[in-house]
Amino acid sequence: MKLSFHGADRDVTGSCHMLECAGRRILIDCGMFQGSRALAEENAAPFDFEPSTIDYVLLTHAHLDHCGRLPLLVKRGFRGEIIATSATAELLRLVLLDAAHLQEEDAARAASHRRRHGEDPPAAPLYATPDALKCLDCLGRAAEYEKPFEFAPGLRATFFDAGHILGSASILIEAHEGDRIRSILFSGDVGNTGRPLLGPPSAPARADFVVMESTYGDRLHRSIADSIEEFYTAIGDATARGGNILIPTFALERAQELLYVLHQGIESSRLAPALQVFLDSPMAISATEIFEHHLECLDPSTAAQIRQGHDPLALPNLHLTRQTADSIAINRISGGAIIMAGSGMCTGGRIRQHLRHNLWRKESAVIFVGFAASGTLARQIIDGAKHVRIFGEDVPVRSTVHTINGFSAHADQRELLAWRNGISGCQATFLVHGEESTMKALSDRLQSGRVEMPRAGEAFDL
Ligand code: ZN
Repeated sequence: MKLSFHGADRDVTGSCHMLECAGRRILIDCGMFQGSRALAEENAAPFDFEPSTIDYVLLTHAHLDHCGRLPLLVKRGFRGEIIATSATAELLRLVLLDAAHLQEEDAARAASHRRRHGEDPPAAPLYATPDALKCLDCLGRAAEYEKPFEFAPGLRATFFDAGHILGSASILIEAHEGDRIRSILFSGDVGNTGRPLLGPPSAPARADFVVMESTYGDRLHRSIADSIEEFYTAIGDATARGGNILIPTFALERAQELLYVLHQGIESSRLAPALQVFLDSPMAISATEIFEHHLECLDPSTAAQIRQGHDPLALPNLHLTRQTADSIAINRISGGAIIMAGSGMCTGGRIRQHLRHNLWRKESAVIFVGFAASGTLARQIIDGAKHVRIFGEDVPVRSTVHTINGFSAHADQRELLAWRNGISGCQATFLVHGEESTMKALSDRLQSGRVEMPRAGEAFDL
């Protein structure tokens, strides 16, 4: 059994790991590198393996940093099967078509810039809509939580609910080689416990090897209850000042959780029912619809509420703005609106327009509720930049900036350790999906077995 690393190595994005066993080559995730512009080159670089030689991709979840290079993999020759849960497969369609569309727009913009400057040839997109569609055609069997299945002779997979986003999974692979069975668990992204919509992460009782994420391996989150309180206070303060509240949000999961929390806030009279809430993201609107089809992935009490016809994501003054014109119209509102828009790290999307219109106003508030990679606009604002550049304009940062990390979809150090310590028999733990200093902090706290922090391209014979 050979394990090699091809992304999210001493870094948080671009997840891609390869397992070679029982005569097959299996990728676990094939994500996009995200963050600064320089990473565009890294995404476009050749894979350090031949895509046509890969038999299977087992996909942990539909976040772009885990699935975003799949269309490229197909474009470059992959003809195997992609296996995921049915909720992940449905979200994948949304995420990859959107990603392809963004690549096409970026390429068109770059091409017209080059034409204006008398240069050629125009830049081609990393991949386009037909590539994304071809990739979706590779989706094969749907995995169900905790139902082991033989996906190839001698190879068994079991998907466990990772509690991170809808459909997310940790994947256990058991390989029969001769008369030996070896097992390896890929954590995917591990969820934060006690979240309102999803159940807690689960994992198998034992595995010979574990490949685990370490995003927040060096810190503890505030409790969700404290974070919700902080969220309501931030909203109350900004509305009292007459400002708008911007929430850069990830379209999957976070947007739905915030709708749930806002709903609870109104039901408990903590927030005013008159609050105008804009979900200004076509992808978040579609993801919200997908949520309601997959009750099997939700926390049982939330699923029961929906079955009884009570929509826990409904709000009296919720505006779903799919069309660009409706999004632009929000700019005319100077106060009292909650605007949720992507992207979560402010690297693109409609949030940038809203930031341009609100960031300089001291009565407004920006509430960050998710991870922001270094180099992103979100990170600059969080780190206290006095001015930022948006669409070539210098925008002063005068609004109040809140960072509420208890909403994180990722486990913190304590939860990661609890998750890992629940798995016995592990000979080695491979840390991925974390910044180097974070990994070291987590590594120091792991008590059993060998710990590795692989570098890109590194391979291990297990
Ligand atoms: Zn994720």
